[in-house]
Amino acid sequence: MKKFRFTAAALAAAAVVGASLGAVGDAVAQERQFISIGTGGPTGVYFVVGNSVCRMVHKEAAEGRKKGRKHGIRCAAPSTGGSTYNIGQICQGELEFGVAQSDWQFHAVNGSSEKVTNCPGLRAVFSVHPEPFHLIAGDGANINSFTDTKGKRVNIGNPGSGQRGTTEVLMDGYGMSTDDFAVATELTSTEQSQALCDGKIDAYGYTVGVPNAGVAVATDGCGAYIVNLTGDVEQKLVADNPFYAFATIPAGTYKTTGEDVTTFGVMATFVSHENVAEDVVYEVVRAVMENIDDFRSLHPAFANLNPANMIKDGLSAPLHPGAEKYYKENGLM
Ligand code: GLU
Repeated sequence: MKKFRFTAAALAAAAVVGASLGAVGDAVAQERQFISIGTGGPTGVYFVVGNSVCRMVHKEAAEGRKKGRKHGIRCAAPSTGGSTYNIGQICQGELEFGVAQSDWQFHAVNGSSEKVTNCPGLRAVFSVHPEPFHLIAGDGANINSFTDTKGKRVNIGNPGSGQRGTTEVLMDGYGMSTDDFAVATELTSTEQSQALCDGKIDAYGYTVGVPNAGVAVATDGCGAYIVNLTGDVEQKLVADNPFYAFATIPAGTYKTTGEDVTTFGVMATFVSHENVAEDVVYEVVRAVMENIDDFRSLHPAFANLNPANMIKDGLSAPLHPGAEKYYKENGLM
């Protein structure tokens, strides 16, 4: 069985850029170049990914100034709607980079789903952490499978979020539509846990790294629990698609996770576009890979990141040439 792994260590710790500036040669020209990285809600893990990448980019810029190896990249990683929003904006040239679920990366580059922009120019840079799909039910909601959500008030997520699309994939698989729910809300990841605790919804779907402070608001805060998702539809999704795998959320992750929870999941991936200059992508990759120990320490979901896996797991778009150049030069490929 394909499986994403989480180790105890991870859990215990529970624009237009460059091209127009004409930078050439080994180092990025010193002119200021601004890059923007699309993330997700401010309580999610994508927000930490984007801001951690920027931190490494700025660290390298500062250290490079001392060592004489300079780059002029300045980076921002604002909160956004999530995966499919990020891919759409990257495709339009509004963002240079973004974090996106591996299922939406695949569909965007292959044009295989109407739930995400068809984006043949999307390029993979590296993958980050595994993201199990969480179906989170309120204390006493009596939901023990995806189909138990019928007749309940369910948050399907904001348009543009990865979980919105993945929830819809599950609904399609089970032949369900929003008509099967008493109410279908479109709350953001930042709003959904409080809504559950306030009794405004009975459940929500969320694709997110483990552990996550937003999930803890519901589980540790008001007794919500994560539902096992191992039905026929989930089995078929994993069997039929390279970008899905079963994942375990280990016992003890949250107060209500008394036993391991098994569900299916994706990888969080870092993506860009073929129109983003090679030297910019090279410098961003270099900053992350050469500071990987620092990077790992910035969120418990990053504890097991390993460059050998980061350059292949969950990547279906072609690698950006700037990333490939760095990986080849450094013996990773
Ligand atoms: N997987 C979610 C999405 O694609 C975001 C999770 C997060 O913010 O960490 O929208």
